[in-house]
Amino acid sequence: MTVRKSNGVGLAFAAAAFALPGHGATAAMATAASRFPLPACTAADGQSVQYIEGDRVPVQEFAAASTYGAPFTPVIIYNPAWMEGAPEPVRILTALHECTHHRLDHVRQTMALIEGGAFDYAARLKIEEDADCGAAKAGRRDYHYGAAELKAYFDYMRQTTPEKIHPTIKLREDATMQCFAAP
Ligand SMILES: [Zn+2]
Repeated sequence: MTVRKSNGVGLAFAAAAFALPGHGATAAMATAASRFPLPACTAADGQSVQYIEGDRVPVQEFAAASTYGAPFTPVIIYNPAWMEGAPEPVRILTALHECTHHRLDHVRQTMALIEGGAFDYAARLKIEEDADCGAAKAGRRDYHYGAAELKAYFDYMRQTTPEKIHPTIKLREDATMQCFAAP
């Protein structure tokens, strides 16, 4: 695991995190207020996803994570310091990545895989690649982002995250560029 310093962000871990079962979302929850616009998103079950600032979560821990809060409400908890330090396309793509986790029901799928003892590297990578692919396509559709913004997103992740939560950034980047190039 490599940790690299990045300007203004300190040591940030694990951008755009996946489902964190048992993550203690309640303790980390602050308010749903957002200091910058983030994309609206809908979970697989049709519920609107809420953004929550994780103000008690140190910047080192994560950029953003998708989970369910009580009473079973889809939420994206984000690290305000990490998000504010990120360029806007990185921030938006990070949010869209989390939105895609909810849209594709990855939180519940991950929990089921963990329960079944089947949440292995390949399963995790597939979920992350699918979330990146969804983010890339939503970024193109809703924000007119292209390959340059995607590259900025992966470069920023490489600078600010060890691969604690998300597997190999390079594999994800290659898969995302392929998915982005496809119609
Ligand atoms: Zn993810």
